[in-house]
Amino acid sequence: MSVEVKRKDQNQSWLLPSVLSGMSLTFGKMWGNLFNRKKMPTLNYPEEKYEYGPRFKGNHVLTVKKDGSLRCTACMLCATNCPADCITIIASEHDNEEVEKFPIHYEIDILRCVFCGFCEEACPVDAIRMGPEWQSPALNGGSFVYDIRHLAFRSELRGGIESRLDDAERHKAGI
Ligand code: SF4
Ligand code: SF4
Repeated sequence: MSVEVKRKDQNQSWLLPSVLSGMSLTFGKMWGNLFNRKKMPTLNYPEEKYEYGPRFKGNHVLTVKKDGSLRCTACMLCATNCPADCITIIASEHDNEEVEKFPIHYEIDILRCVFCGFCEEACPVDAIRMGPEWQSPALNGGSFVYDIRHLAFRSELRGGIESRLDDAERHKAGI
């Protein structure tokens, strides 16, 4: 059996002014937005996109050397620092004796990533950066695990992002 509880001071007649006040606020905002679209606090996405600052940390990029190979030395510092444990690296020996190791497998599970930037901060050789891209659409769950092809050579990067230093400059600088 349900019991209806009423407050002693409940007075139904006070509801109408509150409803009218709410409606006037809603319609006031609606007319304001219709006739002054530049001041609207929202964007018509995807036609309009928000411009983030240059320091925005978006999707990851693995940088390349001047010869187009990966800058990464598979040192594992980024994976060790990652608080979300979403970076997986498998290292291998390189044919070139001057290159100690390189990653044959580098993956970021972007759905687990919290975009903290610790991987970028930890990298001693400018091999991983977080750039301005913030849209990550995909058709299925597997596409959210970014591999080397995506991280270093996706079409948006137009051939890859070159690291600031080549190996000779890096060794000269002691890094
Ligand atoms: S941004 Fe943070 S959570 Fe994402 S891969 Fe880098 S260290 Fe891990
Ligand atoms: S991206 Fe940088 S920190 Fe991560 S394994 Fe490669 S060289 Fe090391």
